[in-house]
Amino acid sequence: TRVLGIEGTAWAASAAVYDAATDEVVIESDAYQPDSGGIHPREAAEHMHDAIPRVVETVLERARERRDAADEPPVDCVAFSRGPGLGPCLRIVGTAARALAQSLDVPLVGVNHMVAHLEIGRHTSGFSSPVCLNASGANAHLLAYRNGRYRVLGETMDTGVGNAIDKFTRHVGWSHPGGPKVEAAAEDGEYVDLPYVVKGMDFSFSGIMSAAKQASDDGIPVEDVCYSLQENVFAMLAEVSERALSLTGSDELVLGGGVGQNARLREMLAEMCDQRGAEFHAPEPRFLRDNAGMIAVLGAKMYDAGDTLAIEASRVDPDFRPDQVPVTWRPQDES
Ligand code: ATP
Repeated sequence: TRVLGIEGTAWAASAAVYDAATDEVVIESDAYQPDSGGIHPREAAEHMHDAIPRVVETVLERARERRDAADEPPVDCVAFSRGPGLGPCLRIVGTAARALAQSLDVPLVGVNHMVAHLEIGRHTSGFSSPVCLNASGANAHLLAYRNGRYRVLGETMDTGVGNAIDKFTRHVGWSHPGGPKVEAAAEDGEYVDLPYVVKGMDFSFSGIMSAAKQASDDGIPVEDVCYSLQENVFAMLAEVSERALSLTGSDELVLGGGVGQNARLREMLAEMCDQRGAEFHAPEPRFLRDNAGMIAVLGAKMYDAGDTLAIEASRVDPDFRPDQVPVTWRPQDES
């Protein structure tokens, strides 16, 4: 199976071709960079409009080279991210995907972006039934498979983890995205007290974000605030991940999402897993941040399971939750 994946839920205009025979994933991405502030939905949509045709054409050219015959379609299906994400961006990507599926005369596959963040880790780790921590810009949640669905075991009660970090960095005048800048600044920091909020399996970032802004306004060195922000936010995520492993009895954890590129988060999760004899896997960075590779890889599994989408039923969904997705591509008798 060879799949064209298209991603464009927020900032990354991305296309990929996944070849299941060789397990090769070719990704071409073009990132939207706001001039000021965070992501502006209208500007991000304009970026999709400009960049999607370009990235798609680049990877399709690669797929055409791999065909056995010139009259064969370059891919077996077109997979696209249906949501969750910014409505104006999703609509452009949806339109592009429908048009491509029709012009190539191949089926369309609608992929949930959060399930893709999870499945790429399952794919690259080879784990059978891991707990997944999705630590991305707009989201933060723990997922595990049970009775045909990925269940949300715990999640943020307010903002996503990356967005919380980015809001703090905007406040101190740093450009978007803030995550890598906080990571660099934290190296020279010392711990100062900041809120830590975990309620059962859920957690909250808005209090710590406001306190971090306040601490910096009060003159606490920004390195110390960055260090403490990372320590608390990632410890919260590690605590809830550990609880999820304990509740499910799983001994496998995979990490997904752009914040997963952070070395300190990975270190804390690896240490926690090590202490309880569990295995930990974080995919390579190109599969953690938003990318079409994860859409193409899950698209291939869905296509093989016959899970395609009629054009009439292919509306995008900005609030598409991972537990809304019937998991058609895993053996139905798995618990
Ligand atoms: P979602 O997948 O929920 O729609 P998203 O589209 O915003 O989220 P991702 O690519 O998963 O995108 O994650 C982007 C986020 O990752 C940004 O908030 C960015 O600051 C954060 N990030 C990137 N690198 C790092 C890092 N090294 N440390 C911490 N955060 C990081």
